[in-house]
Amino acid sequence: MDRNDVVEEKIRTFVRQRPALPDEPVPQSTNPPPPPTFLGGGIDVDDDCLDVTETSICYTANDQQRCYEVDGGFDGDGTQAEVYEATARSIVDAVGSGYNGTILAYGQTGSGKTHTMRGGISVSEAGITPRALLQLFELQKQSDATLTFSLSYVQIYCERLSDLLGNDTDELSIRDRPAHDGGGVYVRNATRVPVTTPRQALDLLAAGDSKRATASTLMNEFSSRSHAVALLHVERKTKDSLQRSTLTLVDLAGSERHAACAGRYKRLEESRAINLGLSALGNCVSALAERRPHVPYRDSKLTRLLQASLGGTARTALIACCAPGGDATGETKSTLEFAARARKVVVRAAPRDVAVDYQSLYEEVKDSIDDYRTRERKALDEVESLKDKEEATQQRILELERENDALKHALQRQQRPVVEGDQVDVIEQLHAKFNDDTEEAERRHAAELRTAQSRADAKIKAYRDAAEVSARECDAAEAALTGEREGHLASLKELRRVKAEFRETEARHAARVSELIEEVAAAKGEGEAKAQEADKAADALLKRVETLEVSRQEQLETDYVSRDAVAEMEKLFRSTIDALAARLEDLEGKRVSDVAAGRSRGRVSAGARAVLESLDAGEDLPPLHERFGGRRRAKPLATQNMPRAPPRRRVSAKPAIPRFY
Ligand code: ADP
Ligand code: MG
Repeated sequence: MDRNDVVEEKIRTFVRQRPALPDEPVPQSTNPPPPPTFLGGGIDVDDDCLDVTETSICYTANDQQRCYEVDGGFDGDGTQAEVYEATARSIVDAVGSGYNGTILAYGQTGSGKTHTMRGGISVSEAGITPRALLQLFELQKQSDATLTFSLSYVQIYCERLSDLLGNDTDELSIRDRPAHDGGGVYVRNATRVPVTTPRQALDLLAAGDSKRATASTLMNEFSSRSHAVALLHVERKTKDSLQRSTLTLVDLAGSERHAACAGRYKRLEESRAINLGLSALGNCVSALAERRPHVPYRDSKLTRLLQASLGGTARTALIACCAPGGDATGETKSTLEFAARARKVVVRAAPRDVAVDYQSLYEEVKDSIDDYRTRERKALDEVESLKDKEEATQQRILELERENDALKHALQRQQRPVVEGDQVDVIEQLHAKFNDDTEEAERRHAAELRTAQSRADAKIKAYRDAAEVSARECDAAEAALTGEREGHLASLKELRRVKAEFRETEARHAARVSELIEEVAAAKGEGEAKAQEADKAADALLKRVETLEVSRQEQLETDYVSRDAVAEMEKLFRSTIDALAARLEDLEGKRVSDVAAGRSRGRVSAGARAVLESLDAGEDLPPLHERFGGRRRAKPLATQNMPRAPPRRRVSAKPAIPRFY
């Protein structure tokens, strides 16, 4: 972008006061306020440029005159054409050259905003919008560049942005446009209709108008309660550049305070929402006029949408519309104040150059070529299919002609006179041929029948054999199954029997075990008793030995025995005692080992056992009185020297009881 292309200028501001309407009530006041007076300056228009000289508009209310500086003013005599030339033409030109442009109509309801922007249907009454469209399409014809147009039409009603050209009622959103696309904002998802004639664009706007939210008030039956924004998008293509610009035409809702509305109670929320947009517009204009660092564009949908128009890259004109008459005094004053503030705002407009995306252009061209080729292929296919159809039709015509010829021929033959002999020959020949053919056919048929019969027989036999085999296999399988089943039953029976036997054995074993336990207990008791008996017997024997010894001593004392005999007897007796002692030691050792091995058979004293064992072996004490013939009392040495048996220890040996489960 060339620095010279940047246009830095103020928002150009105009005031238009509409004439009094024929049916408008004339103020009855004896001292009506005078209408605003336009002082000095004026607007000169020639073919090439618009030269607006500085103008002041002075307004007297309540005997006080205030003057506001504006760029131009129109009273009731100002025509639509004059207003257009002064306010819009240069901006529309700029839009055709790649700049963004905005024209706003501001003012209270019934002040002439819609009349200014759209106007009436006659040519002279046509407002800014139709004139701008005409101008742009005129530029399209004259320009070296290719200009294409598309139209969007949206409204902001109660802070809701909606599409007036689309079918859906979804709320639209305002987004920032990327810097490479020229920056600014755009309405996302808004319908964009390509337009090729001013008529088409006006029809679309008229269709959109029917959707606008309107409500009746006492001030103006058709007063608009919504902000209507028409966006005419222009794409300007040259050999090496692409520029996109937008002409934004805004017909604002009435700027009056809701207190001025008779229907205010019903539409308080609506009025608040409308006032929100307009007061935000006022705040933004004030911030921009005072060059404050922060401008609250995001306070309302309206200011966000007009962000570029107010303080950005658009050339902007504001037409402040005023109504005549005393009723409008207050509103006119505030409208003029707003206009004067807006005039202080400086905008810095520049053409919106868009980087040419050669890749996209290439893709676009390639797509169109592909599309053309596809269509060409389809057309060729259609030609081919038509050719085929034509060929088939020709073929059919030929066939029909041939049939026709054949029929003609047959007809001629039928009409030919028949010679009798010829006819008989022919009939005979035909008959003979028929007979031959019939015979041949019968033969062939019989042969075929036979073959088929034999094949069928073979097949039937094969099937029967197979069926028999299957039946046999089936029987065998059944028999096997039966056998298997019986086997299973027998096994089951056997299993049951074994189980019962096992249970019986188990019970028997348990009983036997109990018996054995009892037997063991009984045997133990018996053993104990026998051991006691043996002890008793041993004690008795010992007593008897002692008695015998005493009686032998007595006998010795009573019998006379010589010294030599006594000595011999004593010698003999001592050797006997030694032998007994040795024997006793042996037995004692054996008993100790038996006790250690658990083979003790009861408590028998060692001496008694030695005597018992001597007696068991058949040994006997020599009859002393017989051998020595005398009586001598001797000490019972045999018992004196006998070692005593160790005390018998009771061992409780409980037998382990086997368990059966
Ligand atoms: P607004 O849009 O501000 O509510 P309108 O544009 O609807 O007001 O104007 C209200 C009435 O005044 C309409 O009937 C309109 O035709 C008429 N009117 C407005 N301005 C003019 C004008 N300059 N000359 C003639 N009639 C006008
Ligand atoms: Mg209107």
